[in-house]
Amino acid sequence: MKIAIYPGSFDPFTNGHLDILNRAAAVFDKVIVLAAVNSAKKTVFTQEERLAILKECLKDIPNVEVDSYSGLTVDYAKKVGASHIIRGLRAVTDFEYEFQLAAANRFACEDVDMVFFMASGKHSFVSSSVVNELRRNGADVSSLVPEPVLKAYEKKGL
Ligand code: ADP
Repeated sequence: MKIAIYPGSFDPFTNGHLDILNRAAAVFDKVIVLAAVNSAKKTVFTQEERLAILKECLKDIPNVEVDSYSGLTVDYAKKVGASHIIRGLRAVTDFEYEFQLAAANRFACEDVDMVFFMASGKHSFVSSSVVNELRRNGADVSSLVPEPVLKAYEKKGL
């Protein structure tokens, strides 16, 4: 069984993330979406909220699971027997960061490889921070995020 991890902040989960995830789920037997616990990063949604949103958004994709972890992604991968880590690429600007991350992961563990998928053109500008900024300024973001994210914004009064 080929298992992959899709780690990220998912603050919140967007249709760009969903795009990458659907592509990965078509290739791997199981994909575990891993909401990173990163205390250094100030997030709009709490760890519990991000996890709840992910669970609601992904409950209908049979080979996708949701979890959170505070250590190195490669350690989590080893723990669950995953062979690959999924990341998404939007534009050249993502490359440098992802290249460094891939090198760091390889330094920490030789056996787990990174796999990159590219989002469709219509999602190439979508990031959690752009969606949060649009929403904060009153724009309609309903075509950029799944329904549970809109509900989560409303619940928080955002
Ligand atoms: P992180 O803080 O770990 O970068 P993110 O939640 O911002 O977490 O992103 C997780 C992964 O999804 C990253 O590899 C990022 O490049 C990718 N990603 C996010 N949005 C998109 C998008 N619209 N198209 C393609 N990949 C994306």
